[in-house]
Parts: sequence; C-alpha cells; structure tokens
Amino acid sequence: MATTLSSNLSVRLAPPVSLPPLTVPERLLLGPGPSNADPRVIAAMNQQPIGHLDAAYLTMMDEVQDLLRYTWQTTNPLTYAVAGTGSAAMEATIANAVEPGDRVLVAVKGYFGHRLVDMAQRYGADVVTIHRSWGEAFTLAELTAALDEHRPAVLAIVHAETSTGVRQPLDGLGAACANHDCLLLVDTVTSLGGVPIFLDNWQVDLAYSCSQKGLSCAPGISPFTMSPRAVAKLERRRQPVANWYLDAALLRKYWGPERVYHHTAPVNLTYALREALRLLAEEGLEARWQRHQQTATYFWQGLADLGLTCHVEESLRLPTLTTVRVPDGVDAKAVGRQLMADYNIEVGGGLGELGGKVWRIGLMGYNSQTKHVDALLHALGTVLRQLA
Ligand SMILES: *Cc1c(COP(=O)(O)O)cnc(C)c1O
Repeated sequence: MATTLSSNLSVRLAPPVSLPPLTVPERLLLGPGPSNADPRVIAAMNQQPIGHLDAAYLTMMDEVQDLLRYTWQTTNPLTYAVAGTGSAAMEATIANAVEPGDRVLVAVKGYFGHRLVDMAQRYGADVVTIHRSWGEAFTLAELTAALDEHRPAVLAIVHAETSTGVRQPLDGLGAACANHDCLLLVDTVTSLGGVPIFLDNWQVDLAYSCSQKGLSCAPGISPFTMSPRAVAKLERRRQPVANWYLDAALLRKYWGPERVYHHTAPVNLTYALREALRLLAEEGLEARWQRHQQTATYFWQGLADLGLTCHVEESLRLPTLTTVRVPDGVDAKAVGRQLMADYNIEVGGGLGELGGKVWRIGLMGYNSQTKHVDALLHALGTVLRQLA
C-alpha cells in the first residue's frame, strides 16, 4: 500500500538524470587562490562532524585561536575564525568597526581596496579615498598626510594586493593612526602564512585573512581579529552591528568562556584550519616566510630566463603572488586555457586595470615549492612557444 504523504500533491519535477559519483580533477593551483590544500589538511577535514558545543570541539576552538594569534603575532583576546570566505571576514571588520556616519579612509591601490570602499559605503560610512596606481604602494608620508587631512575614524588598507602583487609596507602606520585616534584596518588575505606580519608590533587594530591562500586549507573559514582599542569602539557603539551573522559582540560570547550558541560552526572546516595552522606552527613562521621568499626569488629568476618581466619592482613584490606582464601580441587568456588543458595548471588573469595585461601567479603555502615552479616554467615556456 502506497504511503500517502500529502492529500493531493505529487512530485512533478523529475530528478536530474542519474549522475555519476563525484570526480574532482587533479589541478596544480598556481593562481591567486584557492591554492592546493596540504594533504594533511584534507585528511583532518575528512572526518565525522561533532557538535559545535561538544567539549572536544570547544577545545579545538581554543587551539585555533591560539594558533591564529601565533600566526599573526598578536595577543588580541578577540581573535577567531569567521564562518565564510575572506570576504566575510573582510565584511566582519567593516561591520564591527564602522557606525553610520564614521569617516573611513581607504587607501586604494588595486581591486580589493575598491571592495573595502564598497563595503564601508554599505555600512553607512563617510568614505574618503586616496589612490595609487595598480602596481605601486603608498609611502608612510602620503598616508600620514591623508590622516591629517581627513581625520578618519578608520583607515583601511590592503597589505598584500592580490590584484597587483604589491606588498604595502606597514611600518609606522599603526603609530600614526593611534596618534590620530584612528583604527588601522588591514587586509592580510594574501600575506598571512607567507609574508612577515607583526600585527601587535605594527599596531594593527582590525585584520582578516582567508584559509585557502597562504594557509593551504580549504576555503570557507577565515581568520579575524580585533585589538582592545577596536573592541572598545565596538563596546561604545550607539547602534548594534548592522550584520547579525558577523556581529563580534555576539560571536565573542561563543568563542569566549560563555560559549553562547550563535550559529552552527563549520565544524569540518575548523578541523581543517586547525591542521593547517598546526602545520604552520611546526614549520615555524620564520622558516615559512623564508621558504616563500626563496621560492619566489627562484621563480622570478626563471621568468627572467624566459624573457618575461614582473609588473612590480622587486622591493615591493609579494612572494605569494607575482604579476607577470603579458608580452605584446600574446593572448593572455589563450595561454591560461592551454596551461590548464595540457598541464592541469591554473594561473590567474589580470583584474580590473590590469585585465589582459598580466598573469597572476600564486606560490602560496603548500604550493610554495621549487618543483612546482619548475613545472610551471616548463609549461609556460612551452605554451608561449606554441602560441607565438
Ligand atoms: C582573495 C582576497 C579577498 C577575498 O577573499 P575570498 O576568500 O575570495 O572571499 C580579499 N582580499 C584580498 C586581498 C584577496 O586576495
């Protein structure tokens, strides 16, 4: 006898024709992200979820917080992982630091600076911007002059501009911000785990990153931190944070000793992030930064041997992300397609102002290895000869 589920309804939409089991192609991800996850991270992630209030899970959360503090070199109590990709953690910094009407100064020198502007505007900030062309960095004098002129409540800047391959020097900026009673908000998405960062020493007040670039984890869980000065501003707010999901005033009660339920944590991604950060701690920050610098220097030499030029001058170049100029007459997209078709290698194209003008090549975390550089240089040299 057929079970009646509902009096007069029946299934009308047919299921998709029988799908084969999932197969994921093997790729070498040498673009701007994601990068390949360390096999140990995949193994850690591939286990049964447990409850997000389970004592074992709460211990893991504490471990992740400690590991993040080490990775950023900060003692900020309010340091945790946001459920979402880097953009969610980015939005978390803006949502928590900005009240409607606050003046926010964004120093824009690439694509992600524009994203910060967009987000700050959505939270009602009075946004002012200063600009540098795509491939350059700001000087401390320029930033200090802008602080003098605009007197912002928050200065937002990208440490590692993934759209241009520029590393923004941050020495002295935190002190200048503190002198101007301004919070310093820094995007460390493409620097964390690959490029030296000294968050406390640099007096950074809000920072965020992602899991799938320098940390070699799967995407979907993102480091976030606020200094005591930023927390004090949060506590002084006249209005609650406009984004419920990202509200640090609520989330700190889950990540802190009270353990108040907020939302279901991405449990398996926490396993993954813990393992990625444990790998980083095993290697040690200095060794890891050195490995990234050495692999990148080796890559830059190989590019020069192929007759290719980097877009950014060496002193400002990120070891995690290199922008390589597309030679005249070469179709950048065709090269990317060929690298994927013949070698299973993914590289990125130019974004925004640099669209069609550069390739963006990431050597991050687990992928920062000379053997991958050798594979890429061989493939790139071959494809360029074929397409010439
Ligand atoms: C990748 C990236 C982001 C966004 O992170 P998602 O994980 O893609 O959401 C933000 N800022 C910078 C500098 C990035 O490179």
